[in-house]
Amino acid sequence: MPTRVQRSLLLAMALAAFTWQVPIRSQPAAFDMVIRGGRVVDGTGNPWFLADVGIKADTVVAVRRGLDPGSARVIDAAGLVVAPGFIDVHSHVEAGDEGQDMIGNPAAENNLRQGVTTVIGSPDGGGNVQVGAYLAKVTAAKPAINVGSFVGHGAVRGAVVGQGNRVATPEELEQMRGLVRTAMSEGAFGLSTGLFYVPGNYAPLDEVVDLARVAGERGGIHQSHMRDEAAHVLDSVRDTIAIGERGGLPTQVTHHKIIGKVNWGKSVDTLRLIDESRARGVDATIDQYPYTASSTSIQGGLVPQWAQEGGREKMLAGLRDETTRGKVLAAIVTAIETDRGGGDPGNVVLAACAWDPSLAGKSLAQVLRDRGRPVTIPRAAELVVEIVEKGGCSAIYHAISEDDLVRIMKHPATMIASDAAPGVPVFGKNVPHPRAYGTFARVLGVYVREKAVLTLEEAVRKMAGFPAQRLGLMDRGVLRPGMKADVVIFNAATVKDRATFEKPHQYAEGISAVVVNGQLALSDGRLTGERPGRALRR
Ligand SMILES: [Zn+2]
Repeated sequence: MPTRVQRSLLLAMALAAFTWQVPIRSQPAAFDMVIRGGRVVDGTGNPWFLADVGIKADTVVAVRRGLDPGSARVIDAAGLVVAPGFIDVHSHVEAGDEGQDMIGNPAAENNLRQGVTTVIGSPDGGGNVQVGAYLAKVTAAKPAINVGSFVGHGAVRGAVVGQGNRVATPEELEQMRGLVRTAMSEGAFGLSTGLFYVPGNYAPLDEVVDLARVAGERGGIHQSHMRDEAAHVLDSVRDTIAIGERGGLPTQVTHHKIIGKVNWGKSVDTLRLIDESRARGVDATIDQYPYTASSTSIQGGLVPQWAQEGGREKMLAGLRDETTRGKVLAAIVTAIETDRGGGDPGNVVLAACAWDPSLAGKSLAQVLRDRGRPVTIPRAAELVVEIVEKGGCSAIYHAISEDDLVRIMKHPATMIASDAAPGVPVFGKNVPHPRAYGTFARVLGVYVREKAVLTLEEAVRKMAGFPAQRLGLMDRGVLRPGMKADVVIFNAATVKDRATFEKPHQYAEGISAVVVNGQLALSDGRLTGERPGRALRR
């Protein structure tokens, strides 16, 4: 017979075994994935720290040293940077010909290979009016990365007022309010405007303020491709600030740049305007891509807006009239001399022409030479009109200075965004702007490592924490327990963009792994085939 003491001891042991074993058998593993030993740059701008990142399902559940991975998948990040996935607040993923948008081409390899885990489409006033229907299609397409959307003012105006140059009637304004209200209730992140483009350019500021207020009342922001980024850029920044100030919502100068050599240096004043507005309480911010060339259609970029009024057929009819044609040519000459043309037909390079793919990659100067014509600005203007008559092209405009670019990048209220061209680039097709492939890796390689314009931590803040906060994505953009597990792992010593203006179809290097919603979408620098992205709604 055991003694009393022995009996209690046995009981205690049995209880201990019970309490020790039962929970272990029923307790699920703490982590599905542990990213071990990396330098965590958490997206807040704070200095990096050594920690493991534990992920369970789609959520970061631990960020600290010495995590026991148990049976979890371990990703060795020794010597590498572990950061929140990058968020691109200006991407044309919603558009594109021949199914080249995110729905037709959901692998998003160009995004993943630069560490981007979220893109927001319908910028510049374009894209979707029916945001709910679009996001349902995104969900059905199972993209590799997360996709959200603005509602575009130009698209809304086009649907209600058309392409004409006139003020909206009170009934039309109410209809436009309704469309913005619906889009916001369906998950849009705010109102994008493209006051540079037809038909957004025909809207008086009051209309824009009115519709921005509708978006703001539902928690949205305003993001503007401004009326002018050249001679009148200061007035346009004032307008963008006014839309935020009078509309009562956060406002953002998108892809901020100073176009045209005669205007270089004006970023000193544009940034001062932003600082002054912030000092009086306007929530005004900026986004930017790290290149000294812009890209848009040759029509949008060089043909005066008055000539585009009423749509393409009306414009073509105007060009058949001798007097009108002469005025259009004169305006294009001015645009090449002082605006997007960069002062030289060699600075305008065709990116894609559906009616003659062989033109892609050639400058206006080169096309003139190929055709045995003199390379002059008036001849280049004639060529532009011919191109527009044939069906148009997209083009790249080398007309931005590095000094302005760096000054804007350093500003604390500037975040990084790609403005990637319409569609998801099809590898090898056309000669698009390299920003679709390189933007985020270029910031890390050129502006952090080579030029030391930004610290690594500041760059990651501008690419993750800051855009997430701006969009109201409060569960992404920072690496912390409770956040959604969007993570990028890269080598800070080797990360670089390889896409150039001459050869844009080159993926970035140095991004070794990307996790989207807790699943590896990129591993050892290659796509895994997983497509864990989601439609994001505000
Ligand atoms: Zn734009």
